[in-house]
Amino acid sequence: MSRFFSEEFRTVTPYVPGEQPKDKKYIKLNTNESPFPPSPKAQAYAKQAAEGLQLYSDPECKALREAAAKRLGVDVDEIVFTNGSDEILNFAFMAFCDKKHGVAFPDISYGFYPVYANLYGIPALQVPLREDFSICADDYIGLNRTIVIANPNAPTGLALPLSEIERIVKGNPENVVVIDEAYVDFGGESAVKLIPKYDNLLVTQTFSKSRSMAGGRLGFAVGCKALIQDINTIRFSTNPFNVNAMTIAAGLGSLEDEEYFRDNCRAIIENRTWLTQQLRQMDFTVIDSMTNFVFAKHPKMGGKELYLKLKDNGILVRHFGGERLTPFVRITIGDAGQMQTLANTIGKILEESL
Ligand SMILES: *Cc1c(COP(=O)(O)O)cnc(C)c1O
Repeated sequence: MSRFFSEEFRTVTPYVPGEQPKDKKYIKLNTNESPFPPSPKAQAYAKQAAEGLQLYSDPECKALREAAAKRLGVDVDEIVFTNGSDEILNFAFMAFCDKKHGVAFPDISYGFYPVYANLYGIPALQVPLREDFSICADDYIGLNRTIVIANPNAPTGLALPLSEIERIVKGNPENVVVIDEAYVDFGGESAVKLIPKYDNLLVTQTFSKSRSMAGGRLGFAVGCKALIQDINTIRFSTNPFNVNAMTIAAGLGSLEDEEYFRDNCRAIIENRTWLTQQLRQMDFTVIDSMTNFVFAKHPKMGGKELYLKLKDNGILVRHFGGERLTPFVRITIGDAGQMQTLANTIGKILEESL
């Protein structure tokens, strides 16, 4: 730390992204990226956009908003695009949380929520998940705080039914409820359809997972017009050109290639079902996942040990510290070949060590 670092940020603990080691070629199942390349249409549009990079990108993301609004059945004024959905979450913390009332989110969820709370000095209530890792909607009624919930949740992979989400939104009419739907395309039920009914609901989604564009950095939020205006006030006060021209073009290409998107989601869901079965046959406890990853533990091998042994064998998965998470590993669903290699390798590791 330099002696110039602003007093208010000195105690900030930054988010730690999943490792991206370059020492050798790994099968990367640790950061929930897609095993598939972006749609050929997305790639072609991005290349074309590169020819015009001397110009600023469209700060309104007009074409992209029109395409997304049509697909989601909302108004163009009810959408805003951002540099990944991490940026929309950042804007939402800035716009809708204050030091007086604070924010609430599950104690086990996306690691960025406590980081934003900490960055802005917002008191955070971390609501414990149930024993089975599910979210109890009743715990979120009448908290008088901004609420942030990932649905499906990470790293558990569990989804709340839309009726439970609606109960939370309805039960907090004086507070914004942010539903982070980073994984919704893998089997969850989107809360976007509730938007016409509730002026306190903000739904965020990303192109990083189901649309194979993690490196493109594209996310968005959907909410009533007034909420989106507030986000735009923050956005135009920080970085109006937050989405670059190649990414806008790629995003448009992706939205125009619905079939490619559907096929990939279907493949991930199939591979998830297959891997879940394989792991259960090897005595793993696997939480029923609605995402592109599974969260699993073995009765005879801790999560850290399995993570390290897989890494030795050229496969990266994610391990989290903390009492309730440490027995588990989180494994991103890859293509069929990767899943086969993973299952074989885990079988071999268990045989050798037990
Ligand atoms: C991956 C992820 C995000 C952020 O993704 P971006 O790449 O920033 O769009 C947000 N929330 C959850 C729960 C995630 O897993």
